Amino acid sequence: MATMGHEQIVYLDDHAAGLHAVIAIHSTALGPALGGVRFLHYAQPADAVLDVLRLSAAMTYKAAVAGLHQGGGKAVVHWSQPDRPRPPELLRALGRAIDELGGRYLAAEDVGATPADMNALARETPWVTGVDESIGGSGDPSPVTAVGVLHGMRATCAELDGDASVRGRRVVVQGVGHVGAHLVRLLVADGASVVVSDVDPRRADVLARELGVATVGADVVIEQECDLLAPCALGGVIDDVTIPRLQCRAIVGAANNQLEGPGADRVIAERGILYAPDFVVNAGGIINIAEEFTGYDRARALTSVARIEATTAHVFALAREQQITPLRAAERLARQRIEQEGSPRRWEPGDPAAWTAGEPLRHLRVV
Ligand code: NAD
Repeated sequence: MATMGHEQIVYLDDHAAGLHAVIAIHSTALGPALGGVRFLHYAQPADAVLDVLRLSAAMTYKAAVAGLHQGGGKAVVHWSQPDRPRPPELLRALGRAIDELGGRYLAAEDVGATPADMNALARETPWVTGVDESIGGSGDPSPVTAVGVLHGMRATCAELDGDASVRGRRVVVQGVGHVGAHLVRLLVADGASVVVSDVDPRRADVLARELGVATVGADVVIEQECDLLAPCALGGVIDDVTIPRLQCRAIVGAANNQLEGPGADRVIAERGILYAPDFVVNAGGIINIAEEFTGYDRARALTSVARIEATTAHVFALAREQQITPLRAAERLARQRIEQEGSPRRWEPGDPAAWTAGEPLRHLRVV
């Protein structure tokens, strides 16, 4: 497997606790590595490793482009029963492992995780975000991620035809879980014509009943004719097989690592489809979490998240100027910021005072 330049990879195999997980720290050049904990069933251990390596690298780019003083990290936990809560001993063991990293990795929610998981981790370590608002956290980041995606959509619509409004646009949302469902509500409120799809049809049906949106099967969602296709399920959905079937004008959604395989960004561009880089438009969650470090305030978080619209527009403009794809433009922006502002390991483990964002989350320790 080609190296992606990770600083640290930690494998956890605690049979007594039933914990099989990998924590990957891609970069701490801009600050502690922030990234979600994903609970997912992986067919092979190698799948989990590849997932965590790619996701943590994307977090580095995401934080850099969003202007945060954070690096990129991620944790994946092999968990085969998505609808069952995690046993306390598993979460305790994971919390202890995160604690041992001394703050180099800051946990947050990702696919399969809940605020209850974050609260449980916070009993073992202060290095966790997204805990309940009642104990000083910012809670579930998903609604704010959805707001950020909507801002990304506005910039995308403006790039398509000079009008940022989503009113009257046909938007197809793939995956209506935590982020997708919130996004659908925002789109409907703004007058978009929304079509939803989920492998769990009950989730799509709930929204159809509540909002009157149309539904389509998960096997045909990619090929729907629309203005915006919003992948909000898992990554890797835009690949050699699906690209020829696309009938959208643009792709802009919450899912991490939507493009599969090198060169997918170029092939999409050649097909005349505009791609809003996932790590630019789905940064609302970590922008929201970063607000925890200075005392969480929802209004201030939403103001910061609104900047995603300008950032996405900047990425498109750069892509046009430099005749590169928006993905390459966004990666360039990220690398530039890391080169200019990053200093390898400027934050030392066990030295919270040196943390760029100030006093870390000690106040969140639950005893
Ligand atoms: P979630 O697990 O709550 O929702 C995902 C939904 O997608 C589920 O309803 C699932 O049934 C559905 N799904 C899975 N495969 C599908 C398919 N092939 N077709 C249609 N539906 C499918 O996850 P989430 O928290 O909403 O996150 C969604 C995506 O956004 C993930 O890729 C995640 O990494 C990314 N993301 C989330 C956040 C956040 O704040 N939660 C922030 C940034 C990025």
